Amino acid sequence: MYSVPKLGDYSQESLEKAFAELRAAFDAEAQAPLDEAGWKAFRDRWLGRKSGILTQINEQWLKAAPAEAKREVGRRLNDLRAAIEAGVESARGGASAAAGASGERVDVTLPGIRRPLGAEHPVLRTMNEIVAVFRAMGYSVGEGPEIETDYYNFEALNFPPNHPARDSQDTLFVAGQEAKPPRERLLLRTHTSPMQIRVMEKQPPPVRIVVPGKVYRHDTPDASHSPLFHQVEGFAVDTNITFSDLKGTLDHAMKALFGSSVKTRFSPSFFPFTEPSADVAITCFKCNGKGRIGETPCRVCKQSGWIELLGSGMVDPAVFGFVKANGYDPEKISGFAFGMGVDRIAMIKYEIDDISLLFQGDVRFLEQFA
Ligand SMILES: [Zn+2]
Repeated sequence: MYSVPKLGDYSQESLEKAFAELRAAFDAEAQAPLDEAGWKAFRDRWLGRKSGILTQINEQWLKAAPAEAKREVGRRLNDLRAAIEAGVESARGGASAAAGASGERVDVTLPGIRRPLGAEHPVLRTMNEIVAVFRAMGYSVGEGPEIETDYYNFEALNFPPNHPARDSQDTLFVAGQEAKPPRERLLLRTHTSPMQIRVMEKQPPPVRIVVPGKVYRHDTPDASHSPLFHQVEGFAVDTNITFSDLKGTLDHAMKALFGSSVKTRFSPSFFPFTEPSADVAITCFKCNGKGRIGETPCRVCKQSGWIELLGSGMVDPAVFGFVKANGYDPEKISGFAFGMGVDRIAMIKYEIDDISLLFQGDVRFLEQFA
């Protein structure tokens, strides 16, 4: 245990020297960095009630002082006590800051936090691939409103009111519009084709554009139907555009998407806004059009060797008649149009057998595409 030295005498000079030595000893100790336990020992050594240094000074210097020196020793002791209490308190701040810092220290031996990697949704990825193929051929990319008028969705695409072709597109109408004229009533677009009219109203020919987007139909959900799905619309209008251009463009696009060995097949079809119209099929990229892989029947093309992929045709001259501006004269210009279902293409490409998987947001399904 530390013992304070004996005072030789109580002269001013020797008191000055003794207190100055104590103060210097305290200051030297207070400067050393301390952890929590070290600080407690330091505090007790100087301020301990029973045998701390201040207590010893009180006992040995002050109480033993002759009457005429008591006042002077008491004053010096009080000064020293104030300095020591302040010094002990500020050393405590340093000790707890050191303790806090060591508590937050980075432990580099702990395993890291693994963040799951994000990935493009298979529908978006397929849509981007389709769009990229047409961009490379010089097509621009546009988007249109998902809430559309009856006029743009049907009438201007040559679906007259009450035409039976409207029935094939189970339409979701916006409620409460009975007061409006039929052509102004709002609906969820059933296809991306309304953008044909909207684009031609905005710009004169030539036009080459693809329009990816969501479309809606009143379909009961099952493995191959969803009330929401995606299409990419494309069309080109210029002078001297022929059916050969349509065939060449789509043949190139299908090879770019599914591999250079696929063949395309065009078969007659009907759409009100194209004439002539054609459905386009490609040879199955899984079985190379054979319908079987070895002895196993091909699931992708259901053994037919062909996969129906899109609708297409030459723009019906009547459609140009609905474009009032920009000089779309069917006598001078012609064009072709096509539309493909993105979800269906994604399902075929990735062999997904239920369309609802695309929209459930289930990470266990989606992480397969990461
Ligand atoms: Zn096949």
